[in-house]
Formats: sequence, C-alpha cells, structure tokens
Amino acid sequence: MGRDSSPYTTPVFRALDLSTRKVTCTRRPDRWQSFRYLRVAVDYPTGIHWKCVCCATCCQNTSTHERCVRILPQEVSRICLETGLKSQEFSVRFADSPPYTHEMRKSNGKCLFLQRGACSIYNVRPITCVFYPFFLNRNDDTRFRFELTPERCKGLGLASELSKEYFRHLFTIAKQHLELAGEDLVL
Ligand code: SF4
Ligand code: SF4
Repeated sequence: MGRDSSPYTTPVFRALDLSTRKVTCTRRPDRWQSFRYLRVAVDYPTGIHWKCVCCATCCQNTSTHERCVRILPQEVSRICLETGLKSQEFSVRFADSPPYTHEMRKSNGKCLFLQRGACSIYNVRPITCVFYPFFLNRNDDTRFRFELTPERCKGLGLASELSKEYFRHLFTIAKQHLELAGEDLVL
C-alpha cells in the first residue's frame, strides 16, 4: 500500500525530485503557468477541471493508499481550541517532514474527524486537507509549485477549469499558515 511519504502526496516545502515526479505522477498537467506573489513566483497547473464531490476518499485509507494528513503546529493548537481535545487525542508527533510536527490519527483507517461522511472540523482543518488534490512544493527560496497528487480524486475532470485566482487564493492560505508556523517565506 502506498503511503503519503513523498512530495507528491503532501504539501512539503523542500526541493522537488523532478526525476521521481516524472515517473510517479502519471496525470501531470501538460502546461504550467505562474504568477508573482510579492517576491516569489508560484507555478500552477493549467487545464485542470475539478470540483469536490465530498466523497471523503481523501480523509481515509483506500485499498491502495495510506492517507497521511500532516499538521502544522499552529493548526494543532487551533484544533485543540475548537474541539477541546488534547493534541495526543487526535494526532501523533511527526518529526520527519518539517514544518509539519504532527500527523492526524485514524480509526479503522479513517480520520478521527470524519463523522457521517463529513469533516467535523471543517473550518480549522489543516492545509493538507484544504489543498487536496494539490500540494505545494517549495523549489527554492523564490519559487513554489502547486502539484497534483497521484491518487485519484473523484472531483478531477468535473466543473470548469481551475483559474489562476484559485491557486492564488490557495497560496494566500499557505502563506498565512506557514508564517504562523515560523516559516520564513522571503516574500
Ligand atoms: S477525494 Fe477529492 S472529491 Fe473526494 S472529498 Fe477529497 S477532494 Fe473532494
Ligand atoms: S481533518 Fe477533516 S478534511 Fe482533513 S482528513 Fe480529517 S475529516 Fe478529512
């Protein structure tokens, strides 16, 4: 079973392994565009049609994939405040992929916050969840790239093409979360 351990399945902020990406991501978009965000460039895929159909597949393991939802430290705090839970009740420490510090716990392969098919902490869910089926890679200090996960999201191919404004909005969210996590984005 594949696990979210590579840059392709979680928004990590380290250099891309381009050779691996070429092999792994079979649904790579053909074209990329970019926009400026203050002092950095952000690449995003074009030609991607997507709309979430709320199937909750990205909130649980599948027969071929072990879902790993990584969490930033301030996201852990927000979830604690929202739910009244202690961090260890819904997450485990995860030191291998900074700036993430925790990983969401699951029960029977499902995120603990998946209740009756919906996210019970929707307003404070981690950016790992907000970004799905994309994740953000940091190529270097001045360039980021939104990538498509290799897992099959049922919303892909639906609705209209995602716009530059959509990815700009995602990047604004990333900036807010990462700055709170103490990341220096050199913006
Ligand atoms: S797998 Fe895709 S369509 Fe299903 S809930 Fe997640 S983002 Fe939405
Ligand atoms: S936090 Fe919410 S959106 Fe994220 S995996 Fe859990 S149930 Fe799904």
